Amino acid sequence: MPPSPVHFTSLGSVGEVGASAHVVQMHGLTILLDCGMHPKHEGRQALPDFTHLPAPPDAIIVTHGHVDHCGTLPYLLRQYPGAIPYATPATVRILDRMLNNSVTVMERLRLEQGIEDYPLYTREDVARAMRRIYAIDYHRPFGLRPQNPVRVTLTPAGHVLGAASVRIAGPDHTVFYTADICTSEQELLGAYEPPENPAAIDTLIVESTYGANPEADTLDYNQEIKKFGDGLREVLRRDGSVLVPAFALGRTQEVLNIVTRLQSQGRVPVVPVYASGLGRAIYEIYMRFEHDLKPRAEITPLHEFRSVGDVWDPAVLHRLLAEPCIIVATSGMMIENTPSAVIAEEMVTERKHGIFFVGYCDPETLGHKVKHAVPGDELIFRTGGRPVRVRNETIRWYHFSAHAHRAALCGVIDSIPSRNVIFVHGDAPALEWMMENAGNGRTKFAPRIGERIALEAKS
Ligand SMILES: [Zn+2]
Ligand SMILES: [Zn+2]
Repeated sequence: MPPSPVHFTSLGSVGEVGASAHVVQMHGLTILLDCGMHPKHEGRQALPDFTHLPAPPDAIIVTHGHVDHCGTLPYLLRQYPGAIPYATPATVRILDRMLNNSVTVMERLRLEQGIEDYPLYTREDVARAMRRIYAIDYHRPFGLRPQNPVRVTLTPAGHVLGAASVRIAGPDHTVFYTADICTSEQELLGAYEPPENPAAIDTLIVESTYGANPEADTLDYNQEIKKFGDGLREVLRRDGSVLVPAFALGRTQEVLNIVTRLQSQGRVPVVPVYASGLGRAIYEIYMRFEHDLKPRAEITPLHEFRSVGDVWDPAVLHRLLAEPCIIVATSGMMIENTPSAVIAEEMVTERKHGIFFVGYCDPETLGHKVKHAVPGDELIFRTGGRPVRVRNETIRWYHFSAHAHRAALCGVIDSIPSRNVIFVHGDAPALEWMMENAGNGRTKFAPRIGERIALEAKS
């Protein structure tokens, strides 16, 4: 029997980092890899382009709990009740938190900005999705339909707790999707685990986030931590406080543990450390799944961090900044009206404080504007709020990425001698660099949304 054809179609996050959703069709199955929500778009525009779904999905494999990879799962399951979702046990727990939080955010945006499409799904849809999802451990191959020989295996991707790469093995074709990977150890997470038997892989789908960022290649994690510690010390010694805007999943837990380690080593003054709501909820899951962290990771118990509280209450905000402290708060890109934006609004008016960014800020976000602000600039921190004059000079950026830099991505591609390489999850310059420089001699694709690609197996 001739081998049955394998097809790939991307529904989002190609040519940009947006709503990740990629379809692999193999041996009669339609498998959706991730179903994200676009972080920058609103309403239905934030969905992946489901009109290009070539068939109703049999399975949805969610690689991790970042909203750009999982945010439309309840919506999709309402449209396709026959699809079965899968994720690692830690990711299942994280999804419950993240998706319910998405409902809260969408309800708020509907009220504040009149976005009528919101919420795209309800708490009941989230509860239904959580009842349907299968929790699958790393390294445990599983089938998707009775009598169908295709087997899927999840392996650790580094990046954040529960993050997985996906291997889809059919009778005549094997696909490996890295998803978001971090090839080096972080404070709590271990590194991405390369797939077993890489020679058997016909098609590699690889993320390209840092494809256009040569600086990331030269950064040294420990050196960056040292600089971060020096910065904290400098601000705290002059009686200021430091705000670290951070993503709720991953960055918050990593930064909190970097801070407590530096404090216990005497490299940073022992002052109260605060964490905000969703980051704390995810932190509990990190503690519960300690066995999924790197070996010998020592996670500081959550109760050692104080709760930021309701910073919209001026009395709470005043108390928070009354004495020197370190505050790790969402959102990482300092979206208007989130805890980090409300706290920053107060902090930028006083020179003694510091604001330390530790992750990517999209150029259109408030975080990006704050990052590049100079004293005298006026910025708006709440939707409909008044402009506030920035007096603060200590606004810095430290590089603690949870993504592989591009030299590491090239290493990953070289270690997997597939026939086809498909680049996703990167903006246009990143994809261009990867197409040009990575995986030479192989059949390479930087697909457009909706483009259906036929994939040949190795001969
Ligand atoms: Zn991610
Ligand atoms: Zn991502």
